[in-house]
Amino acid sequence: MLYQHYIDNAELDRQVMFGGENVTLEKILKDDKEYFNKLPTSLLSVGSDAKTVKSEKIEVKTGIMYLAQADMLTKKTLCAFAELAGCKNDCLIHAGRLGMKHATRAIIRRTLLYLYQREMFDNMLKNEIMKLSFEHGDKLAIRLNGTSDIDFDYIIKEFKNVQFYDYTKILPRVSNNKLKNYDLTYSFSPYSKKSLQHGREAVKQKFKIAVAFNTKNSKGDTLKIPDKLFGRKIVSFDDTDARFLDKESSIGYLTRKGSSVNVRQAENKIKDSFFITEANLKELQV
Ligand code: SF4
Repeated sequence: MLYQHYIDNAELDRQVMFGGENVTLEKILKDDKEYFNKLPTSLLSVGSDAKTVKSEKIEVKTGIMYLAQADMLTKKTLCAFAELAGCKNDCLIHAGRLGMKHATRAIIRRTLLYLYQREMFDNMLKNEIMKLSFEHGDKLAIRLNGTSDIDFDYIIKEFKNVQFYDYTKILPRVSNNKLKNYDLTYSFSPYSKKSLQHGREAVKQKFKIAVAFNTKNSKGDTLKIPDKLFGRKIVSFDDTDARFLDKESSIGYLTRKGSSVNVRQAENKIKDSFFITEANLKELQV
């Protein structure tokens, strides 16, 4: 019984933002025994989110997996650098459809399987990748860390003919990556001394870098995305999500998702932000 296994093993006192309310994992599980007693319908989603769907215009079909970010379900954390990068609150997991109750519930069910029934999780994931690979051939790309930052090399190396890609805030994951079918983009954050230091190292090493700007380029936004950062030209990483098709050492901007102009304008005064703001931009241009 999956449900009982989770009740016996999960960190039931974790507080989860569930449909706009803070609820314990225990309550979420107990309120929906039948649901959590079943296997997830799928681990990978195809064509269900605004960003990866954009890759379809260049004929890339993306299978993306959404797990519970950082320490949402476990103190051990699924995003080792999230505290130092200051990205937990602004994570995509809270934005748009992903932040809705039914999506959070599905994310929890998937993550419980990953945490407490790993063999079942791995088998299910491998089967889905295989099926998608038969269906889409070399048009397929797989992003396993939609809302996590986990080392899935043990899965990726089993599918040498499938293109995988991810963004990561963990610099050594980029520098140590030896897998030819795995493209990793370093996700820059000026939030802490440590993350800034890692970001500068990533620039020096000429890694591919994604930089999130505190703007949606809408009428009320005063932050303008510059042409260059760290002396290098910036391209758009918003047009598609197919990072593996970018030139090596590209620096790309991402605009901020799921926020109001007022929130963005207030955050523009903050230097220690995960985003590039008006307060920290100048320092990053030298
Ligand atoms: S590392 Fe990525 S997935 Fe994890 S909390 Fe930060 S933004 Fe979210």
